[in-house]
Amino acid sequence: MSSREWSTKTQACAYLISAPVLLEANIERFLEDEKYEWRRTPGATDAEQLVEFSGRVCYMSFGASQSPRTNAEYIANLRRQGHDSVLEHSNWTVLLTGVSRAFTHQLVRHRAGFSYSQLSQQYHDETEAKFVTPLGIVDRPDLVSAWQDAAEESRRTYRRLISALHTDGVQGREQLRGVRSAARSALLEATATTIVVTANARAWRHFLRVRGSIEGDLEMRVVSALILHCLASSGPQLFSDFSEVLLDDGWPSVIVQSEDSDATR
Ligand SMILES: Cc1cc2nc3c(=O)[nH]c(=O)nc-3n(C[C@H](O)[C@H](O)[C@H](O)COP(=O)(O)OP(=O)(O)OC[C@H]3O[C@@H](n4cnc5c(N)ncnc54)[C@H](O)[C@@H]3O)c2cc1C
Repeated sequence: MSSREWSTKTQACAYLISAPVLLEANIERFLEDEKYEWRRTPGATDAEQLVEFSGRVCYMSFGASQSPRTNAEYIANLRRQGHDSVLEHSNWTVLLTGVSRAFTHQLVRHRAGFSYSQLSQQYHDETEAKFVTPLGIVDRPDLVSAWQDAAEESRRTYRRLISALHTDGVQGREQLRGVRSAARSALLEATATTIVVTANARAWRHFLRVRGSIEGDLEMRVVSALILHCLASSGPQLFSDFSEVLLDDGWPSVIVQSEDSDATR
């Protein structure tokens, strides 16, 4: 199996929809006003440079005070020193689709540095709800079939409740909310949802560290790998100590190297 064959077996998608952009003219204006020179690392991304710039402001380590460190070395040094608040300046927004409500219930427990906007089951009609097949059974057609029966039954019950409660006459938005609230309780936790998640580098790093390698939580591992892929495309040095590995079960795991081993490289 190729190392990313798992990606064809998951319904989850992660779209990077926003990433840091440096407003160069304003940075140049600051440097000119203060008569500073900032020697920059060619190829460093805006997300990486924003963190470096913010860290340098703490010590005004521009010009003669600037060490010969590259951007990658500067960021690794911040991490080693535990100067993690500087990482909070770079934020990314990721749109997740094809994930289960069970997954997002766990995701939204992360509060510090995170913002969420999720598809509402009170404002959105779920008559055509889709379900996320549990990754633990995708290779077992017999179990998928039994699970699909349960999913179909839950959608049937949802539709039955909606149509019965509508027959009783729904007036206004709050009554409709009441109808959908009652009906949605019949839907499985596997109901597919869509969520926009914004977080800064420090918060994403914490999330990936505590969630990315929980062996029995396949959906969390897979979505963590998709998210890492997005973030590393925009700020590779901010996530250079994280990597995706393939476990024997055929699914990815996001692992992090300890800062100690980072320091010896
Ligand atoms: C393996 C595993 C099993 C779990 N099992 C359960 C379970 O059975 N039941 C359950 O309810 N939850 C469970 N959780 C969720 C867990 O308790 C956390 O709510 C969730 O992981 C969010 O992490 P966090 O608290 O680090 O939050 P984040 O918002 O990501 O916070 C990041 C960090 O900021 C600091 N921080 C954030 N908020 C505060 C605060 N109010 N006060 C002080 N410091 C703060 C902490 O250092 C925290 O680690 C589990 C999580 C994992 C990883």
